[in-house]
Amino acid sequence: MSKTNIAVLGAQWGDEGKGKIVDMLTPHFAAVARYQGGHNAGHTVYVQGKKFVLHLIPSGILHPGVTCIIGNGVVVDPQALFKEVDELARMGIDVNGRLLVSEKAHVILPYHRELDVLSEARRGERKIGTTSRGIGPAYEDKIGRRGIRVCDLLGDREALAQEVRENVSARNRMIIDSTLDWKPLFDQVVAFGERMRPWVADVSLFLDRTIKQGKNVMFEGAQATLLDIDHGTYPFVTSSNASIGGVCTGLGVPPKAIGGVLGVAKAYTTRVGEGPLPTELSGELSERLRESGQEYGASTGRPRRCGWYDAVVVRYSARINGLDAIALTKLDVLDGLPEVQLCTGYKTASGSMMEFPADLRLLAAAEPVYETLPGWSSPTKGVTQFDKLPAEAQRYIRRLEEASGVSCAIISTGSDRDETIVRGDSVVAGWLGRV
Ligand code: GDP
Repeated sequence: MSKTNIAVLGAQWGDEGKGKIVDMLTPHFAAVARYQGGHNAGHTVYVQGKKFVLHLIPSGILHPGVTCIIGNGVVVDPQALFKEVDELARMGIDVNGRLLVSEKAHVILPYHRELDVLSEARRGERKIGTTSRGIGPAYEDKIGRRGIRVCDLLGDREALAQEVRENVSARNRMIIDSTLDWKPLFDQVVAFGERMRPWVADVSLFLDRTIKQGKNVMFEGAQATLLDIDHGTYPFVTSSNASIGGVCTGLGVPPKAIGGVLGVAKAYTTRVGEGPLPTELSGELSERLRESGQEYGASTGRPRRCGWYDAVVVRYSARINGLDAIALTKLDVLDGLPEVQLCTGYKTASGSMMEFPADLRLLAAAEPVYETLPGWSSPTKGVTQFDKLPAEAQRYIRRLEEASGVSCAIISTGSDRDETIVRGDSVVAGWLGRV
């Protein structure tokens, strides 16, 4: 059993391979808890060659005996949740008794998806590039204090009917010529509630009790720090706090409950959707990274934009989240490149910039300052010990650690659970009780 509760979150723009890292650490934890986002997240996990794509339910569900929690900070699309539960059942995994959904989580209603599409269309050229799954509009309703929570689906029917009626008429006012009828929607949400009822819980209380019993919890982030609504590249961000603060607000756990923070970062950088990406590559090299890294969105299949590792970004993430260590993923994707580049700062018209800026115009104009290091010709793929990595790969990692200000406790060298290096002298080895 692990020695502490840890948070695992994305240190870049998402798709860092958090799914694999969370999955390999899960056997050391009694529970895994998601604290924000919706079914726009897409974790791909391979277990013995079998592919699992999970959007809403923590990937911990693939491990028998682990309780998986959807916190109040998550927005839940009941239909998406049922689909995932049914797919897991088809794969032989029963979630009952192991899945808890916060009674305080807000519900994504079918019309939130339409509002998402509409709001992107209205932004035209300035579109965010959302997954159009209604997540943003559901968070808007939450902050606008008109949202419907899971507990509302299970409570007083009259009160729920009134809320649905009011929400539908507000929506009808927003969309020209729209005459959505509240009654069928009401019937639908009542049915949603009934199916969810066995899973609904006071998640904060459950976590408090679990921790007090001496068991450990992993807090699982979706999206990533640079997509955080407050600390990301606003407005090209997600609608929730993907960074560490979201753990406390999205689950009802105190900061003291978080014993360690692991940031997941790719050995290069990718981004899906719009917004500046300083180290973005074009042409052959970008294509090369996209193809060897299979950089296509797990949720939407969209091709990801690819670039070199940006240490400014990871330094910033380390500061915002208080990262204790990095899990560096997809090192093997760089195998065979004659040289690799590492961004250590930005050049701007007014001089050098070493800290990540708030103003996106500055970021868009920033020119990366690169260090070029030799590549490696023998593969890192599947290597499980640091000193078995090619010397050039070791050197790249060491320089990346220095430039990022955090050490790499885990290095992932392939998509399978076993294709992983856990450094024996690292903080993660300590968390797992290995030292
Ligand atoms: P997440 O949302 O952060 O979990 O990331 P995704 O699931 O969207 O993308 C991760 C993808 O990379 C999945 O297909 C993983 O199987 C794969 N992956 C994870 N780690 C590695 C690695 O070290 N090497 C390679 N080649 N693929 C990896």
